[in-house]
Amino acid sequence: MSDGVPASAAATVDVDRSDAEYRDWLKDAVRKVQADSNRSADTHLLSFPLPEQWGIDLYLKDESTHPTGSLKHRLARSLFLYGLCNGWIRPGRPVIEASSGSTAVSEAYFAKLIGVPFIAVMPRTTSREKTRLIEFHGGRCHLVDDPRTVYEVSAALAEDSGGHYMDQFTYAERATDWRGNNNIAESVYEQMKRERFPEPAWIVATAGTGGTSATIARYVRYMQYDTRVCVPDPENSCFFDGWVRGDNEAFSEGSSRIEGIGRPRMEPSFLPSAVDRMMKVPDAAAIAALRALERVMGLRAGGSTGTGLWSALKIVSEMAAQGRTGSVVTLICDPGDRYLDKYYSDGWLTAQGLDIAPYSQTVDTFLATGDWTG
Ligand SMILES: *Cc1c(COP(=O)(O)O)cnc(C)c1O
Repeated sequence: MSDGVPASAAATVDVDRSDAEYRDWLKDAVRKVQADSNRSADTHLLSFPLPEQWGIDLYLKDESTHPTGSLKHRLARSLFLYGLCNGWIRPGRPVIEASSGSTAVSEAYFAKLIGVPFIAVMPRTTSREKTRLIEFHGGRCHLVDDPRTVYEVSAALAEDSGGHYMDQFTYAERATDWRGNNNIAESVYEQMKRERFPEPAWIVATAGTGGTSATIARYVRYMQYDTRVCVPDPENSCFFDGWVRGDNEAFSEGSSRIEGIGRPRMEPSFLPSAVDRMMKVPDAAAIAALRALERVMGLRAGGSTGTGLWSALKIVSEMAAQGRTGSVVTLICDPGDRYLDKYYSDGWLTAQGLDIAPYSQTVDTFLATGDWTG
């Protein structure tokens, strides 16, 4: 004690949990996820043909061309990197997700890539093709009867297994790099650079987690663009009512028929204050727009693409009526081959009591004459 340290000084308490084996695993897992991205090309920005003299251009960002077929490939990559870098995803421990399907398909792919088990908790009504895809990627499907229970069932499964509940509905908005890093918004603006109206008047994005619309809206504000963001909502979803009333406790009964979008509760990743405008789009109108997409461009897509396209066409019609020129961008969220027994089946439409004829008439009349009668 000759150096003056009092004899009563407490010893430093020190707990070191660093684990060389885990860190080697982690490095390799992060590298594999980044390598997947490095091997992938950007998705196309397709042009939806409109009469040249309208002076309005409509574009579709085709997110169906990701390796796992939907815009959820971006989200799954971000969630895996976030979970890995936070130390939440561990070797040998399962990753569990509450999903209506697309997120689970992409997450099953990334789980397999880094070698961890994957369990998807989803409503029993999810399309069979998506269940098949999850299992194809080595995931397991845990089906529930009441869609509102997916969150608690996922949390319980994670608790019991020592795994990680990914929770896309909470973390989608924060796991994504909204300032850039080739997120969907930055990619759209890059691809718009040589168009005649490079800064879109409107970007239309539907909401499931709300993460895509939050990322786009934040990026637009951060880059000081004038672009406005519109979120169309399907039937059986609370987002529209909650946004209009400013009510974060809004909820809706039943579950959305448009897979991937429309939620029974205001999800934490949905950022109402960043959204400029919302529309409530009838499901029959969405499917009419979807069928028009095939007639006009020879493309089949999922239902949410139809909800977005209907809304984008309505915005184009307003701009045309006001004599305004400019561009509008919406998304192809996933491919139609997942829904041949739903949106592309007339039997399904009849069983659901959906009559798309009047909406198809609206779209066809609009594309032929510029008049919107809906
Ligand atoms: C998730 C999803 C959306 C909406 O994207 P979010 O970023 O979750 O709001 C739209 N379409 C499909 C098919 C989806 O799976």
